[in-house]
Amino acid sequence: MNLRLLVTDKCYYKCPKCANKHYNLLKLPICKKEDYSRYESICLTGGEPLFNAGRLYRIIKDIRESSKAKIYLYTSYTLNITSLITAITRVDGTTFSLHHQRDVIPLIKANAVLQKNYPLIRQRSLRLKIFPEVSIARKITWMFIYTGWRVRITQWLDECPLPENEVFMRHEDAFR
Ligand code: SF4
Repeated sequence: MNLRLLVTDKCYYKCPKCANKHYNLLKLPICKKEDYSRYESICLTGGEPLFNAGRLYRIIKDIRESSKAKIYLYTSYTLNITSLITAITRVDGTTFSLHHQRDVIPLIKANAVLQKNYPLIRQRSLRLKIFPEVSIARKITWMFIYTGWRVRITQWLDECPLPENEVFMRHEDAFR
């Protein structure tokens, strides 16, 4: 069984078709540290998980200490590329959702640092989802594919049903 863990409800963006609109986040069951060992993989999501980078790193550490679960990160964060790079290097896989044109240059810079300083990062799962708002999508795709990312040019979905083998819970501090 896989866990989707809401680490915060806060985000810098207000995407009109944000998947969270399909869920009542307040009603999500709370997941505590002792629960992590039940899951094969844990996907850290938000809001923006890097809204509070310190808390995200603590959660990653707690999972590593109490479980063998693979850890995946869903993020769209580019405000501080050092924080983004740190998070990517601490998890088993990252999906970056590129929603806005303004995030393209910071993401390219972060990827350049990753490729130069963390060559083993290519052995991890790196996925880039490019949304319609990013008009230069086709021009940057090759750059990420060349450096080990699986790139998908995607669309906003009207519905986001949870996969059968996945549960959606929230961290106990998700609303702080
Ligand atoms: S960046 Fe992600 S979490 Fe934030 S509003 Fe957009 S879709 Fe929702």
